[in-house]
Amino acid sequence: MGTKFIAGNWKLNPAEINQAKELAREVRDRTANCSKVNIAVCPPFISLPAVAELLRESRIAVGGQDLYWEEAGAYTGAISAPMLKSAGCSYVIIGHSERRQYFGETDETVCRKLYAALKGGLKPIVCVGETLQQRKAGQLHDVIRTQVTEALRGMDETSLGDLVVAYEPIWAIGTGVTATPQQAQEMHAYIRSLLNDHFSHALAMTTPLLYGGSVKSDNATELLSQNDIDGALVGGASLKVDTFVPIIESGEELS
Ligand code: PEP
Repeated sequence: MGTKFIAGNWKLNPAEINQAKELAREVRDRTANCSKVNIAVCPPFISLPAVAELLRESRIAVGGQDLYWEEAGAYTGAISAPMLKSAGCSYVIIGHSERRQYFGETDETVCRKLYAALKGGLKPIVCVGETLQQRKAGQLHDVIRTQVTEALRGMDETSLGDLVVAYEPIWAIGTGVTATPQQAQEMHAYIRSLLNDHFSHALAMTTPLLYGGSVKSDNATELLSQNDIDGALVGGASLKVDTFVPIIESGEELS
């Protein structure tokens, strides 16, 4: 069991930059004793510079929730890898199911964004996950294999040293329903086997695989104790220090 990685995805929250700074400050202060677990928070774009500045001397990294694959140009509303870098990000989430569902993200755009993130020196957190309907129809492995394979299409293993993959079953995101540790472990092992098949045993073993989907303080330890679960991508519970910090502490204990 290696070092765990706990990342908070704040989504479209909080409403104000000052509130984002306050949340970041609380997480920073309440985790000051954590010396092993890796931690990141992913606030909305608008709050990134302020949050990154506040966390500059801390162990907490900052990530964007999305990026566009072009670096600059006439792309109204887009944010590029160099912009995220200059805002203080070291991570970026790519292909979150909400981006796929509401913003037209496809496996192809995920792949383009992954190239752009790697080129821009950002550590990508690539999200994959199936719907309940797909799971019930027995398409679980096909869906995950396609998402992983297409996201990594054409990639050179040497560029993937900072890759992070998050397995997030869509039916577990924001629903309060968590995958059982066994269900999550099975899919993490499967994703590792895909990395092994496409690249190498070394890459498969060193790529952190995060579980996401209603992770809470009362299920974090059991999930994080599974062999192939290296961390958690936390949505709702990352928005309050009292619910996020215990998850980080579970990661610290298991690191
Ligand atoms: C997420 O958005 O990545 C997520 C896992 O959300 P939640 O923890 O709220 O299910």
